Amino acid sequence: MKGVYTRTKPAWNKGLKGFRAGVKHTDQTKAKIADKATGRRHSDATKQKLSAHFTGKPISEEHRAKIQASMKAKFASILPDPRRLALQKIRRSTNYKHWREAVLEKDGHQCVLCGETDRTKLTVDHKKPLNLHPELALDVNNGRVLCCICHLYLPTHGVASRQKHEA
Ligand SMILES: [Zn+2]
Repeated sequence: MKGVYTRTKPAWNKGLKGFRAGVKHTDQTKAKIADKATGRRHSDATKQKLSAHFTGKPISEEHRAKIQASMKAKFASILPDPRRLALQKIRRSTNYKHWREAVLEKDGHQCVLCGETDRTKLTVDHKKPLNLHPELALDVNNGRVLCCICHLYLPTHGVASRQKHEA
């Protein structure tokens, strides 16, 4: 074909290798490289490049499972357990607000132990702890008004009651 170059001789550099091709790092060198890389972070520019490279590329099921497992392990300590979530749901409900109002009304808006009437110091407490008796969460008779000081000294106080009753 006219005007088209076709190679008639073998390429001159075919079979040439880099000067270190086939030379393996010694274990000592490998350790040095690993040591130097430990704790190093990609720069923001590199992160962007990596991100662009991997965006839109599907990951294998195996890889996905690995990521899920590692994320699960990472967040297991942070995620609230379902029981706590259920209690949180009760505490945030409108009925719970009504229950609070009813208990405040019942006890005359003052601490049942010391008579404190400062609204900012008053809390509504469950006589039988909420985490042990969620069915009594909205029972007015299970509620009492306490000031924050008296509340602190009672076994029904938050974390202390949980530890005490679970122990
Ligand atoms: Zn009090």
